[in-house]
Amino acid sequence: MSEPYPRPDPMGADDARFWSYVAEGELRIERCADCATYRHPPRPVCAACGSDVVDWVAVSGRGEVWARTVIHPPTLPAFAARTPYAAVVVRLVEGVFMVGNVVDRDPGDVVVGMPVEVCITEVEPGFRLPLFRAADAGERRQPEDPSSSRRETPRRVTRDATTRDA
Ligand SMILES: [Zn+2]
Repeated sequence: MSEPYPRPDPMGADDARFWSYVAEGELRIERCADCATYRHPPRPVCAACGSDVVDWVAVSGRGEVWARTVIHPPTLPAFAARTPYAAVVVRLVEGVFMVGNVVDRDPGDVVVGMPVEVCITEVEPGFRLPLFRAADAGERRQPEDPSSSRRETPRRVTRDATTRDA
């Protein structure tokens, strides 16, 4: 039997906001409101232009496996019963990288370049993680439809003293 998953331990307002969206079943990524550069992991200032004004944009969740490895024992107790499993770095189509697992393939079948899509999964009651599953390559290569209902109005956040990271 597996031990409980380690829980996210946000170090700032940006981390906390990312995980609050995941808890709602949404994958939202920070995008600079001034120069439109995506950034992840969440952080308070844009590395491209220095702006601290941010939109939290609902993203496609689609991308490809950029790097992978298979985890075998010994490992941390919380993960020991889950071995072997594939740990991956996924490059989303928006250009940012996320670390996760591909949950619907044997670890040996997870390869670099494989198209994947996020599946926000309730791994324990009340606790969701952004994991990945294999995506259909043909569907993934279709051009973006700008009228897609997936697009939502970004939520703009203007920072003030109460939300700025310490
Ligand atoms: Zn910027």
